Amino acid sequence: MARVEKVKGLFGEEVRCSVCGGDPIAVWVGKDAIFVCERCAIEILPRLLGEAIAIAASDEGWLGFKRRLERLEKNIYRGALAAAIDLLGGEIRDDSDA
Ligand SMILES: [Zn+2]
Repeated sequence: MARVEKVKGLFGEEVRCSVCGGDPIAVWVGKDAIFVCERCAIEILPRLLGEAIAIAASDEGWLGFKRRLERLEKNIYRGALAAAIDLLGGEIRDDSDA
């Protein structure tokens, strides 16, 4: 995952969110580039991922679903924290009372 600003030179200035067509903030480059806006990153993609693991676990029941959901949660936290440390620096402040 990378900030869109870092890759606009590769993809051009007119990149759009791959889900809704909005203004993207991040990109994942795999076989194709997937651009995502903040709204879709928070509201849409997690639902897609949740539906995908439910489908994947449909032959295994709730235990298979729970295992996949736990792995998904861990990977979301790992990705978010790695990006946050990179973008915000190594300092973690608790500003929840601000
Ligand atoms: Zn979007």
